[in-house]
Formats: sequence, C-alpha cells, structure tokens
Amino acid sequence: MDNKARKRREALVYHAKPKPGKIEVVPTKKYATQRDLSLAYSPGVAEPCLEIEKDKDNAYKYTTKGNLVAVISNGTAVLGLGDIGPEASKPVMEGKGLLFKIFADIDVFDIEVDTKDVDKFIETVKNIAPTFGGINLEDIKAPEAFEIEQRLKAELDIPVMHDDQHGTAIISAAALLNALELAEKKIENVKIVVSGAGAAAVSCTKLYKSFGAKAENIVMLDSKGVIRKDRPGISEEKIEFATERKIDTLEEAMKDADVFIGLSIANIVSPNMLKSMAKTPIVFAMANPNPEIDYQLAMDTRDDIIMATGRSDHPNQVNNVLGFPFIFRGALDVRGTKINEEMKMAAVKALAELAKEAVPEQVNIAYGETRLNFGADYIIPKPFDPRLIAKVPPAVAMAAMQSGVARQPIQDWQKYEDELLE
Ligand code: NAP
Ligand code: MG
Repeated sequence: MDNKARKRREALVYHAKPKPGKIEVVPTKKYATQRDLSLAYSPGVAEPCLEIEKDKDNAYKYTTKGNLVAVISNGTAVLGLGDIGPEASKPVMEGKGLLFKIFADIDVFDIEVDTKDVDKFIETVKNIAPTFGGINLEDIKAPEAFEIEQRLKAELDIPVMHDDQHGTAIISAAALLNALELAEKKIENVKIVVSGAGAAAVSCTKLYKSFGAKAENIVMLDSKGVIRKDRPGISEEKIEFATERKIDTLEEAMKDADVFIGLSIANIVSPNMLKSMAKTPIVFAMANPNPEIDYQLAMDTRDDIIMATGRSDHPNQVNNVLGFPFIFRGALDVRGTKINEEMKMAAVKALAELAKEAVPEQVNIAYGETRLNFGADYIIPKPFDPRLIAKVPPAVAMAAMQSGVARQPIQDWQKYEDELLE
C-alpha cells in the first residue's frame, strides 16, 4: 500500500471503528433505580417543564441548552471539497463537535440541513434554535453564508457565528497584530494586499479594518484580478474593498506592500513578487491545503519574512480551533445574546497577548519543540496550549458584558477562571 492509500485507510477506519462516527450522547444524571427514572422522565420531568413554561430562561437552569451548540451546515462549501451535500458534510460537523468538546467542554449537536434555499435554511435554524445556547454555522457557500449569518444574528437572541468567516479573521488578526509588532510597523500605515475576495478574505479584511487598517492602503484581488472602483458589476461584499489605484495584477499590487493575505488558491505568488515587497514583509498564505506560495520557497527567497499558513507542518498555523471553542465558551458563560465585534476583537487581543507570554514546558513537549518563543516562528499560540481556556473565554465574556449583550454577567472572575481550568 502506498502512503496515500495508507492514510486514506487510516482515516476511514478511524471513522468507522469501534463505533461509526465521532460523538455520542451520554446521560449526566443517575439512572440506576426506578426513582431516578421517575425523576428523569415522567412524572418528575413535568416540574422543570412548568418552570420553563413560566420563564423560558429557566431552560438554562434545568436543561442542557446553555452548554449546547448547534453546528449547522447545508454542505455547500465543505473544507476545500466544495458542494458535497449535507450527508457528506456530517463527518466535518461531527469533527467540529469533537473539537468543541475537548477544547471547551461544550456539547454539540451536528445538524445537516438539506436545502440550498436561503429562506428555508434560515427558517430551519430559527425553528430549532430553542434547543441551543448558540449556533455555529459551518461550511456554507458564499455569498449565501453572508445573508444567512446576518439575518440569523438579527433574528435570534443567542450567539450565532459563521466560523469560516470569523474564525479565520480572528486568528489571522491576532497573528497580524503580533507580526506587525515584530516588524515594527503600524497597522494604520501598512499596505495590505488581499488575494481572494470570498467568505474568508472579506471577513478577515473587515476585522483588520476594525483594528485600524486603512481602506486606502488595501488592494483586494479576486479571480479576475485587482478589484478596482471602476470595474463594472462588483458585488456588494467586494465593493467595500475596491481600490482607486489603476492597477490590475497581483504583481503590481505586491510592489512595496507590507502585508500579503492569501485566502484564494495555491501557488499564485512568485519569488519575484516576494522580493518586490517592503522590508520585513508579512506573508500569510492561507489557501488550503496548499498555500499561495510554498513555505520553503518563500523562506529561501527572503530571510526577513514573517510567514503564516493554514498548515500544521509549518510554524504559525492559522487554525480556527484557536478561536471558536473559546469564543463560544465565553459567550455561553454570560448567556450572551450575540457574538459581536467587541467580543471578536477581545478574542483577537487575548490570543495575541498569549503568544507573547513564556510558553509552558508541556506545550513545547506536545509540539516536539525545545523552546517556543515569541518571534517570527511563533506569532500565535498553539492549539494544545492549556492556557487558552483560561485566557480567551474571560476576555470574550468581559467584552460581552461591556458591550451590553451579556444576560448573565459574571460576578466573581476568580471563581470563573478557576472553573474554566477544572
Ligand atoms: P471562497 O468563498 O470560495 O473564495 C475564494 C476566493 O478566491 C474568491 O473570491 C475567488 O474569486 C478567489 N480567487 C480564485 N482564484 C483566484 C486567483 N487566481 N487570484 C485571486 N483570487 C482568486 O473560499 P473561502 O472560504 O473564502 O476560502 C478561500 C481559501 O482560503 C481556500 O483555499 C481556503 O482553504 C482558505 N482558507 C484557509 C483558512 C485557514 O487557513 N484557516 C480559513 C478559511 C479559508 P471570485 O470571487 O472571482 O470567485
Ligand atoms: Mg469550516
């Protein structure tokens, strides 16, 4: 068996054995005696029902709602696999459930919806929302994903986040803030080239603007080239990023640029383009599975690059798992009605700060590193860093409280942080 066939088999066996799939439901109350069962179900169960009928918020007290997130997809933009349908997206949604559980002890029902119709999808999610404390939209194709998220956020009173948009934005923004610090550049001044204008690129660039990046310093490209103000028929999402500059190609855009953000396709950046960038260029080539420029090629081209990719086999992996478990943890813990800009920005800052702190030995060991230290090869924390759970949710929870979307503010922060570490 060659290596590829072996990996394929390994993945399939992992999913099939010993039980099909990756998550299951486990009772959390005693069920050994007749008495236990009469409490768990009829007649005892009627009591919490009546309490919740009186006040819906009691659902947080007597049911799993407050720690239960729906990971919902219609399978139209799954990983890099495209529109493979709801059933075929299920392994990904279960996988997300597994990550929520192991990183933030959040329970997940994965839900695969068989419709591409925006209104029907929204209606479905709204109708099942009472079950959940939060909604993680996943792998839904753009531009439908934008409208779906926007409307659900407006119409539901629980946190809703489309992770493909905001996850990447949050992690890459944290990496960007730190890279800029290392490069001794200010976000207000840097020239940024964004290759890609899809779900990820648009929300990343929006978030960088919230942190101070200037519209006039940004050039965005899609499959047709530079998005210019004078190009006819630019879509609503892209228009915000159209440039006044009279340039058309990536090559032109890269000249003297400080930052390259790649959320497009593999191998479109050449060594010459890298050479034409400003000093200490920041290159986040995040196309998966293969970046806009190969990591080693980029490193061999210039020695002053600060580089990140979407891959785990290179330093600085922009990996969504650094974000969603902890953001939802913080949002759920204050019974947030939203995940808003303030909460996302708080997560960014907490992630960026954490990368600058001394790394515990267990993280070095987990990644087979002798010494991870804040610098060009370590600008964002590693996913298995046990400090994430103690740092990011409190920052998100605090931002929710300060921005007025926390329905149950945290009173005792020390107690909360201790609980997070349990
Ligand atoms: P998407 O919504 O399909 O967007 C893809 C974008 O790339 C579109 O705007 C497309 O242009 C543009 N594009 C295609 N060919 C191009 C070219 N030659 N030059 C410039 N732009 C080009 O996909 P997405 O969800 O945003 O993801 C985009 C990429 O980022 C994927 O490779 C994905 O794997 C990667 N990604 C990585 C991470 C991560 O590292 N954590 C997270 C999210 C996404 P049109 O608009 O003209 O079609
Ligand atoms: Mg996804």
